[in-house]
Amino acid sequence: MKEILVIAEHRQGELRDITMEILGLANQLAQAHGLSVTGVFLGADASPFSQTLARTCDRILVVEDPGLDNYNADPYLLVLAQIISQQQPYLTLLGHTAMGMDLAPALSARLAIPLVTDCVGLAFPRDCLEASRQVYGGKVNALLRMKPSSQYLATIRPGSFSVDLAQDKTATVEKLPSPSWEGLKGRRFLGYLEPEVEDVDISEADILVSIGRGIGKPENIPVAEAFAEAIGATLSCSRPVADKGWLPKSRQVGTSGKTVRPKVYIALGISGAFQHQAGMKNSGTIIAVNKDPKAPIFKVAHYGIVADLFQVLPMLTEKFKKS
Ligand SMILES: Cc1cc2nc3c(=O)[nH]c(=O)nc-3n(C[C@H](O)[C@H](O)[C@H](O)COP(=O)(O)OP(=O)(O)OC[C@H]3O[C@@H](n4cnc5c(N)ncnc54)[C@H](O)[C@@H]3O)c2cc1C
Repeated sequence: MKEILVIAEHRQGELRDITMEILGLANQLAQAHGLSVTGVFLGADASPFSQTLARTCDRILVVEDPGLDNYNADPYLLVLAQIISQQQPYLTLLGHTAMGMDLAPALSARLAIPLVTDCVGLAFPRDCLEASRQVYGGKVNALLRMKPSSQYLATIRPGSFSVDLAQDKTATVEKLPSPSWEGLKGRRFLGYLEPEVEDVDISEADILVSIGRGIGKPENIPVAEAFAEAIGATLSCSRPVADKGWLPKSRQVGTSGKTVRPKVYIALGISGAFQHQAGMKNSGTIIAVNKDPKAPIFKVAHYGIVADLFQVLPMLTEKFKKS
């Protein structure tokens, strides 16, 4: 049976969300095309992750070595090139993350396997891989059909697929020997430098209350904050709000901000420019409040309220506080 190989990504003892997102996509493709899903874990110790991976994979390949605990392109490339050459998977998936962007082109060049990057959708319509990618800052999606090949490599944009833990598989774990990389002296892992503390990570929130230019002035932000607090949401924003310094840049949603996929996204006074939509249109339920009935945000919203947000919000806040 043809195989999809998913390269697990972990950092500082935690499996990164992108791994579960790719596994969700891999399982969808596997079910539709009769393929199997194999997770690949490189690290010092796979045991903290094996239960999660076992549920979502048919097979797990593990290479345990202290030298693989932290991502380093040199040993990772060596080990993965060897695994892919031996296993000959039909498709190998990595996140379009710092690690995936570093590794995938090198794997493609070394193994002469066609690569498509930053995908937001994949399909096998016939005997080839078809990939969707966003172009022009997310305004349109381009559909790329790859030439027929026995193997493909693809990187997947984070936040494009939901984390899938619904699978109930019981993968077998195969431990592979760690190759020697004595001769590799190119790069050494020194340590992690933490970025300046961001107040919150909006991409992790279940509910986002997002404010746009319609909020008017920074003195009005507490109205949205009170509503967010009443419903247990995190505050995010469109670009003008971040550009004006009303909220930190880390709260900006969109092509030049963050891609989010909360269960509920509430857009307040946001017109819904395509650069904003590109960062939130895959949210579970989208609710928009805007006084302009023609605002583009209503095209992606599941529920819309055409009203002045300053009339709607205090009423809603009171209602939620009472319930
Ligand atoms: C290269 C590039 C990258 C970009 N990246 C991003 C990005 O990452 N994220 C992003 O958001 N934008 C981004 N933009 C900017 C984007 O094009 C829009 O300009 C921006 O999203 C508009 O923000 P907004 O909806 O808050 O403001 P506006 O477009 O000004 O919309 C304000 C809305 O509020 C409504 N409104 C006003 N008052 C009220 C009220 N009292 N009650 C209810 N509704 C009200 C209005 O009807 C209007 O629809 C980018 C642009 C470029 C060129």
